[in-house]
Amino acid sequence: MAKRKAETSGPAEESDLLTIRPLGAGQEVGRSCIMLEFKGKKIMLDCGIHPGLSGMDALPYTDMIDAEDIDLLLITHFHLDHCGALPWFLEKTTFKGRVFMTHATKAIYRWLLSDYIKVSNISTDHMLYSEKDLEKSMDKIETVNFHQEVDVNGVKFWCYHAGHVLGAAMVMMEIAGVKILYTGDFSRVEDRHLMAAEIPSVSPDLLITESTYGTHVHEKRDIREARFTGTIHDIVARGGRCLIPVFALGRAQELLLILDEYWASHPELHDIPIYYASSLAKKCMAVYQTYIGAMNENIRRQIAVSNPFVFKHISNLKSIDQFDDVGPCVIMASPGMMQSGLSRQLFETWCTDKRNGVIVAGYCVEGTLAKFVLSEPSEIVTLSGQKLPLRMSVDYISFSAHTDYEQTSEFIRILKPPHVVSTTFSHKFIPFAFLNEVNSLVT
Ligand SMILES: [Zn+2]
Repeated sequence: MAKRKAETSGPAEESDLLTIRPLGAGQEVGRSCIMLEFKGKKIMLDCGIHPGLSGMDALPYTDMIDAEDIDLLLITHFHLDHCGALPWFLEKTTFKGRVFMTHATKAIYRWLLSDYIKVSNISTDHMLYSEKDLEKSMDKIETVNFHQEVDVNGVKFWCYHAGHVLGAAMVMMEIAGVKILYTGDFSRVEDRHLMAAEIPSVSPDLLITESTYGTHVHEKRDIREARFTGTIHDIVARGGRCLIPVFALGRAQELLLILDEYWASHPELHDIPIYYASSLAKKCMAVYQTYIGAMNENIRRQIAVSNPFVFKHISNLKSIDQFDDVGPCVIMASPGMMQSGLSRQLFETWCTDKRNGVIVAGYCVEGTLAKFVLSEPSEIVTLSGQKLPLRMSVDYISFSAHTDYEQTSEFIRILKPPHVVSTTFSHKFIPFAFLNEVNSLVT
């Protein structure tokens, strides 16, 4: 393993060298995929796609490695930028190692990828994999409980709760006595349904941490929620339609809990419908109801009285054909970055009317429509190539559950790892202040 900078003289022996090679998510956000090599063991951490690209372009740079040499592949959570390339990797490469994820991740992963295949706006020739490939690959994925220790050819690993989304895990690996913690995406703040990321009881020798938000400090939760509900209230009160593009699963459930509660305390809004428009809506809810045990105290307490995921003011909408567009309403629709699908369709229908509004509620990757509209353009280009004036209001209220500068640096200060590698930071937040906490950065 590389020594601290102050005493750099290389490892004592070649076999002590630990290499980390990002095949994606090194100085970019998206397609997380990191290769770790130590003592002859090869581990791949996550296998995501880049949400702003499609087909083979969206893959991590797996041509730089030999898939068949990998012993172990660990998936931290169900977001596509962490697992979207997995069916392709399992079915179309020579990989023959073992692959693990948590139970909740596997359940949700199945539906999400199925949906991704359906809504991808590219020809079948360019699709990375089919529904059949996905189905075939499911048996190869093994599941693991939080804190359960697993040994694969001398690589020990176990998972900690990471917050972020249901089932999300940080993984601690131990090879020849050296401990490495990979955070995946994590959040140290408890929200309505998820617990905050755990602080591992043992300190790693090497920490590989996400730093999506770099030096940015998040708005406080109550202020952010008030801004969110206030903006929605304004839009519907002026007779507009409010679009909230969301990833079908994950943060959407947090926003639904917030909306349902807000509507309950505002009877004047009861005539205004809220829709959760996702082909997955029903399946998602079933999964969320199944994994209540993996959520926080708050939810477990509520479930004793009534199921908080059975919403009183929100109806499911399977497709746009079921929707009667007659007046003010709120629609949460996937995908979150409006690349295609239902959220894109609604955006194109509504963007020319200034009464309407869109609230971008999550992190947006370069190259997506959601990212583009945040730059306040005067017009947009539809999927069919037509130019439309952008008159609807655009607000950005981030609910993405990643750590901010304060949370990441606190995490590092508590764990005191001698070596820290940071991934997934975007150039926008060039983390100079962050460098004080970090000994080495992946470039
Ligand atoms: Zn994520």
